[in-house]
Amino acid sequence: MRSKIVAGNWKMNNDLSATETLITALKEQIKDPSVEVMIAPAFTSLYSAYEALKGNAIEVIAQNMHFAESGAYTGEVSASMLKSVGVKTVILGHSERRAYFAETDESLAKKVGAVLENEMRTIFCFGEELEDRKSGKFFDVVESQIKNALFGFDAEAWKSIVLAYEPVWAIGTGETASPEQAQEVHAFVRKVIADKYGDAVAQEVSILYGGSVKPGNAEEIFSKEDVDGGLIGGAALKAEDFKAIVDAL
Ligand code: PGA
Repeated sequence: MRSKIVAGNWKMNNDLSATETLITALKEQIKDPSVEVMIAPAFTSLYSAYEALKGNAIEVIAQNMHFAESGAYTGEVSASMLKSVGVKTVILGHSERRAYFAETDESLAKKVGAVLENEMRTIFCFGEELEDRKSGKFFDVVESQIKNALFGFDAEAWKSIVLAYEPVWAIGTGETASPEQAQEVHAFVRKVIADKYGDAVAQEVSILYGGSVKPGNAEEIFSKEDVDGGLIGGAALKAEDFKAIVDAL
């Protein structure tokens, strides 16, 4: 059975004290979750978040990292640096990173390689833009994102890869893919993986949906067969909303 996961992507929100406040609320609200729960605070809050959640089921994950192990990459953070503050999972390829920080399938393949070398896990994001959706090209777009970034690795690598389908037109816009639209893409991607790696590997990959998931729509989206959880942005910043989404899975 594949893992069911709700991950909160805090993006560039919450300084150290706001992190502490939100974590205190999350600890009160989310007790013994029946699914995997993760939060991704900013780099500056990772260590204190990790310390605050020691012994708790909520895992602290990162929003990004560099592919190099160390060196002259001003402003960047490596896999081993993340591991040194307790982080074992990192979100890669978020559409905001692709759009504003020029991340490409090729650079993301290197980042995924660094995740695997460091025995970490990634939540790898992919998804089409509005014009790809409108023109009907979205299957080709998501297929090439997955193939270019992830198909250079062996079947074993997929034990460390979680996918997150995040249609760009649904992120932070209030617009959500319908449960049927999400299911259609998730099932398609699972087939793309099955064609390359076999059905056993494909069936074990968790595929999360992200894009304006809220307490009011989570249950319906999560009810779809190939939707194994959610990557949550805005609604992850309020403990009650995040708890309601965790409960919906
Ligand atoms: P949203 O963001 O839930 O605010 O739409 C999702 C994401 O970007 O991961």
